[in-house]
Amino acid sequence: RAYNFNAGPSALPLPVLQLAQEELVNFKNTGMSVMELSHRSKEFEDVLTHAKETLTELLNIPDTHEILFLQGGASLQFSMIPMNFLAPDQVGAYVLTGSWSEKALKEAKKLGKTAVVASTKEENYRSIPALDDVKLPKEEIGYLHITSNNTIFGTQWADYPSIEGVDLIADMSSDILCRQIDVSKFSLIYAGAQKNLGPSGVTVVILKKELLKRIPEGLPTMLNYETHVKSNSLYNTPPTFGIYMLSLVLDWIKEQGGVKAIEAQNHKKAKLLYTSMERSNGFYTPHATEESRSIMNVTFTLPTDELTTAFLQQAKEKGFVGLAGHRSIGGCRASIYNAVPLEACEALAVFMDEFAQANV
Ligand code: PLP
Repeated sequence: RAYNFNAGPSALPLPVLQLAQEELVNFKNTGMSVMELSHRSKEFEDVLTHAKETLTELLNIPDTHEILFLQGGASLQFSMIPMNFLAPDQVGAYVLTGSWSEKALKEAKKLGKTAVVASTKEENYRSIPALDDVKLPKEEIGYLHITSNNTIFGTQWADYPSIEGVDLIADMSSDILCRQIDVSKFSLIYAGAQKNLGPSGVTVVILKKELLKRIPEGLPTMLNYETHVKSNSLYNTPPTFGIYMLSLVLDWIKEQGGVKAIEAQNHKKAKLLYTSMERSNGFYTPHATEESRSIMNVTFTLPTDELTTAFLQQAKEKGFVGLAGHRSIGGCRASIYNAVPLEACEALAVFMDEFAQANV
């Protein structure tokens, strides 16, 4: 297996792939693949129920919230959120911490009034704003939107803003289940599955039921959260194979000791890489400021473009995949999602040390 540091779609746990392989043509003695089951069958409904129950257990999701499995990626959530929860007399408040928050804001702007309530764009998104810097306008706020982990820039909120009476919405596409969170503090969490949850094609939404009251009349059926809540995510044909894979990934997280154990492992993995950078005495420069560093996407630059090219080339030869930084910021990025094993990070840290020593 490659040392896979792809940003998304990204590594899946090997035991999950192996189990899926085992069950591929004959799922639980049905004589059919999961892909071939009717989404209305008891067998598939069991898969969906199991996925919901396991996610509820892993994240300790309270009864006040509903879990949905939708399509359209996290990107469709950028539009569905304002369509459903931004009334004409309200302002959608956005914190800008990177390209994905910019994209979320861009869609909301088309649908209603918005305000940027904090931003680190001026400093090329090296950090997350201080909680005190998130200042809401006087108008009525529809919701406060944040991106919990910035996949491209490699920053992550350490603590989330919590403002009395304001619904907090978070794009957790690149860090859901990487650490323990208090779901009750969020009115809506969404995440494309393709990083920490499973293959692309399914999007998890965790939604506070109370929000449903705010949905305006007349929305297109598929873009109305109520449609999916009422039908248990089975209004139309859901991404059945994706939901099945997601349920296996959730089982795997549980087997690892749950989110608490995964969180400890993620800190260990991230520390290996950040420590290697510190040891390099300035050869590697982390993009993120220390207090905003992500434990999911580790971004860094090398002294010159030539060295970056050589680093990526040699890394490739050694079996490290996906280390080029996003085209918008360049440099390098190691995405170390839940399924990336500790050994991959250990091997990368050794390679980084050796490359730095050979090229200072
Ligand atoms: N939000 C974040 C933080 C992401 O990293 C991504 C990238 O995949 C997206 C949104 C877009 O997700 P999707 O491709 O599922 O629309």
